[in-house]
Amino acid sequence: METLFGDLEEIKDGDSAFFADVILPVPIPKMFTYKIPRNLKEEIGIGFRVIVQFGKKKILTGIIAKVHQKPPTSYEAKPILDVLEAHASVNPIQIRFWAWMAEYYCCHIGEVMNAALPSGLKLSSESKIQLNPTFDADTSPYPLDDREELLLQALRQKEEMSYEDCEVVLGIKSIHGIIKSLVIKEAILVFEEVKEKYNPKVETRIRLNSEISRDKKALEAVFNEVSSKPKQEEILLKYLQEVPVYRNPELNQKGLEKKVLIDAGMSVSSLKTLIKNGVLEEYKIIVSRFEDEQSLEEGVVLSEGQQQAQQEIKAAFEEKNTVLLHGITGSGKTEVYITLIQEALAGGSQVLLLLPEIALTTHIVGRLRQVFGGKMGVYHSKYSDNERVEVWNGVLSGKFSFVVGVRSSIFLPFDSLGLVIVDEEHEISFKQFDPAPRFHARDAAIMLSWLHQAKTLLGTATPSFETFYNARMKKYGYVTLEKRYGDAQLPEYHLADMLVDKKKNLLKLDFTRLMREKIQDALNNQEQVLIFQNRRGYAPYISCEDCGWIPECEHCDVSLTYHQFGAEMRCHYCGFKEKVPHSCPACGSSKLSAVGLGTERIEESLGLLFPEARIARMDLDTTRSKYGYQRILEDFGSGNVDILVGTQMITKGLDFEKVTVVGIMDADRILYFPDFRAGERAFQQLTQVAGRAGRREKRGVVIIQTRRPEQQIFQQIMAGDYKNFYIQEMGERQRFFYPPFVKLLKITTRHKDFKTAEKAAKHLHNLMGDIQVKKILLGPEKGLIGKIKNQFIFESIAKLDRTGNAQSQFKHELLLILEELQAHKEFRGIRFIVDVDPY
Ligand code: ADP
Ligand code: ZN
Ligand code: ZN
Repeated sequence: METLFGDLEEIKDGDSAFFADVILPVPIPKMFTYKIPRNLKEEIGIGFRVIVQFGKKKILTGIIAKVHQKPPTSYEAKPILDVLEAHASVNPIQIRFWAWMAEYYCCHIGEVMNAALPSGLKLSSESKIQLNPTFDADTSPYPLDDREELLLQALRQKEEMSYEDCEVVLGIKSIHGIIKSLVIKEAILVFEEVKEKYNPKVETRIRLNSEISRDKKALEAVFNEVSSKPKQEEILLKYLQEVPVYRNPELNQKGLEKKVLIDAGMSVSSLKTLIKNGVLEEYKIIVSRFEDEQSLEEGVVLSEGQQQAQQEIKAAFEEKNTVLLHGITGSGKTEVYITLIQEALAGGSQVLLLLPEIALTTHIVGRLRQVFGGKMGVYHSKYSDNERVEVWNGVLSGKFSFVVGVRSSIFLPFDSLGLVIVDEEHEISFKQFDPAPRFHARDAAIMLSWLHQAKTLLGTATPSFETFYNARMKKYGYVTLEKRYGDAQLPEYHLADMLVDKKKNLLKLDFTRLMREKIQDALNNQEQVLIFQNRRGYAPYISCEDCGWIPECEHCDVSLTYHQFGAEMRCHYCGFKEKVPHSCPACGSSKLSAVGLGTERIEESLGLLFPEARIARMDLDTTRSKYGYQRILEDFGSGNVDILVGTQMITKGLDFEKVTVVGIMDADRILYFPDFRAGERAFQQLTQVAGRAGRREKRGVVIIQTRRPEQQIFQQIMAGDYKNFYIQEMGERQRFFYPPFVKLLKITTRHKDFKTAEKAAKHLHNLMGDIQVKKILLGPEKGLIGKIKNQFIFESIAKLDRTGNAQSQFKHELLLILEELQAHKEFRGIRFIVDVDPY
């Protein structure tokens, strides 16, 4: 694969032909070389967005990665059709970052581009073409041939046509040669319609004619004129009330939103008349989709511990590029970030703060907004594409020098980052699973930082093993915050044995006696409760009591989850839905029962156990709308809800004063997950959710329900003994060759036919075995879920040395193998997926 690393050239003068290597948002292994038409030569450089033809029909937006004078050897270069802006949209650091990402994560740079650019900055392939209206065939120095004439005539009549239309007109299958020749003849075909899918938000405003606004006499005359037309007079009076130009004529410049007049009940037709008579003017301006935010305060006062941590971080940055801030839940990491961000901004640098999921962290965003106001951009997972483009442009223009965002915000066009902070660095939502690039935003952020010569701060109460390992090996600096802010204490833990309670008949609707008592205590004291169960729906499955039949998804190898809402069974992998049958299709029995615990069922049980309590639920199903989370959290924050039940969504970042009790319904479910990270994740999840309790004066209580309270991990979580837990687990990882001791690559093979998938997977596996690199290869085996969306899944795992170039050599050869396989007739239609550092 061609690498761009450190190999960027500027456009050169001279008369010979110029070519550009263009990154296209498609999964192809290389960049394509296009010819730069003479008329565009002066206007193009690295990072510019251009329009090119790709294949026979597709028109795509590409990014210029390199300009040179070497024509391609294996094909004839097509011309670049148009350039989209007079400036680069992507800077050289970004292009190097994309190239690194493609190389490291074994994907194509076009796939990285696709992930990086908001779709508003990419052209779709159903583009329409138009003739440049200023083109004049009669005066053109280049004569047109018959087919070109014909095409131009057709275009003149229709204004715009699709590629297919053009083919119909000419009666031939391919027209790209003709279009190319037209472009070179400068009968330029333009793509106005599709240049930008981004729609800026436009506001219609009204203002006085500027002559009138500046001249009191003129204004009086206008009022005399409309004195017999009360509706017009009313409009003018309303305008003057909102925009008192008689006090300050300058105010008229800004005018008034038309909507204000309409909403105030003014007559639309009278308004029209005033505009027609030249008294008022209507005009349009582009406005932000975001509210104008003001910062409320300047200073932050750090506690002594925070101040010390902040000093230590700065000292560590003198020697290390990356520092881990290991601060327990509630220790006040946010305030430490704030002071560091303020300093970086004051020094003229840009700052990026990565959060796992913005919607879940309204608290921290709200707090940052207070301090940073309008210079802070937020890049949200639920933003519309137009909003994303606005943030993108805001970073380009310098409006946003600080961005808080989810993982995709690493792609924003920063050009002078000084500091990158990754909050809750252990969170797996930083990893992108699908589609490629399957990157980890924390790891990518460290690389991005390095490219900018910036510093990275990783913050968490429960570091990922990878990060903690790097800190212990002194690759990263290490700073701790060991006390909660203020007088808050860490919560008091209780283990509740579900089996013992069951035997004694004390387990009611899956709640142990202790759990029920603690919830009741909180309710009696007007305090709030969080209940955690990482499973949405009512029950994980339904089962026939007589024959044991369990309904499964038609398209995937999983059982269907029962959702009481809608009385449906749903597949959480493909979205397939089905009504619950009246009787068992296997034996006809009518005894079908829901087995296991989902958040819906817990909500229902709580209603029965605590009829006086107000209960809400927060999971994927209740938060699908844009402001879903926010509404639930506001309700909870304002005290309208006593008990909040939720999935992992409630484990993160919540900081509510009145939460004193946290209940974990089923800790075993988290512990017995068949993955080498299960222990690590259990420690993180349980510590994080427990950390929501008792964050102010009153000490919190955490109840962990389990069937095996004797497990050592519970003692370690309760004692906050991360280090011993880590050392113990790391022993296992080292013994069985797992990260961070090795690098993992997961190679998945998918096909709709079981045998074909298996055969391809085996073949690939053998070829990987031949790669001359020290490695351990496992598999191929049926995936943990053997079929998803009708595709059978096989997986191989490669374990590689984490140091040296074994990794990059293996990846390099693997890509060549895959390219070859994909070109093979026998393996057409098979998907091979490479996941580097899989989760
Ligand atoms: P963490 O992210 O480490 O879990 P937070 O940053 O959420 O902790 O801080 C915990 C609580 O303490 C928050 O309510 C926060 O507002 C408060 N807090 C932390 N530091 C300060 C400070 N320096 N001044 C005032 N309040 C603080
Ligand atoms: Zn049955
Ligand atoms: Zn399914």
